[in-house]
Amino acid sequence: MRSEGHRVPIKGFIETSFIDWKGHLSSVIFTGGCNFRCPYCHNSDLVLRCREMEDIPLRHISSRLKKFRHWIDHIVITGGEPTIHKGLYRLIEGLKKQDMSVKLDTNGSNPEILKKLVADGMIDYVAMDVKGPLNGYPRWCGVEVDIEKIEKSIRFIMEGHIDYEFRMTIVPFLHKEKDIYDVARYMAGAKRFFVQEFRPKNTLDPSYMTIEPFSPDKLKEIRDNVARIIAEKDDATAL
Ligand code: SF4
Repeated sequence: MRSEGHRVPIKGFIETSFIDWKGHLSSVIFTGGCNFRCPYCHNSDLVLRCREMEDIPLRHISSRLKKFRHWIDHIVITGGEPTIHKGLYRLIEGLKKQDMSVKLDTNGSNPEILKKLVADGMIDYVAMDVKGPLNGYPRWCGVEVDIEKIEKSIRFIMEGHIDYEFRMTIVPFLHKEKDIYDVARYMAGAKRFFVQEFRPKNTLDPSYMTIEPFSPDKLKEIRDNVARIIAEKDDATAL
């Protein structure tokens, strides 16, 4: 893989994972830095302190991928937010040259980059985090966000140019239950929409470490309600 030009800061690498791409054994690359500051983020080091973390050389990753090639041909690129890096395209291009299938995790803030990667066949699967109803994004993300871009990413993904999933991490006190169902209604008809449990560990805003996640029963109830809403294709409304 070539690594000159805009280099993507790779701060983590998992050689084998069963959980980052459902149904596939994959390797995982973690890029440093993010344009959001979600208070509940549990990758706070990657977001806030990535400059202090050592870079993992691409040649190391490349040689490990070659070694595992006969049983790993899927790779997940996650962060942080991978799309903030100018070198992302080239990084993925190098992986595709090694015949890897690529999944991209994104917060949806760069729809044009997403579209280009899809149009050029650079990614095979996208997982987009939806943080909450669009009108509350600065609250969910801790920064001002161009909502139009988030909306564009959602619409583009839902058009089905690429296999996909949406995910929402639900956080007691930050999200009201209604917020979760408002998002589900907006996403009605989506192929996959996963409600993820909040983990009060290593959070970007330390005060979130004192928040108790939803109880298993409550989580199940919310997931069931969300699944029902998502299945109701004709119920999509503006957020
Ligand atoms: S949870 Fe938020 S702050 Fe953390 S990596 Fe994802 S988008 Fe960035």
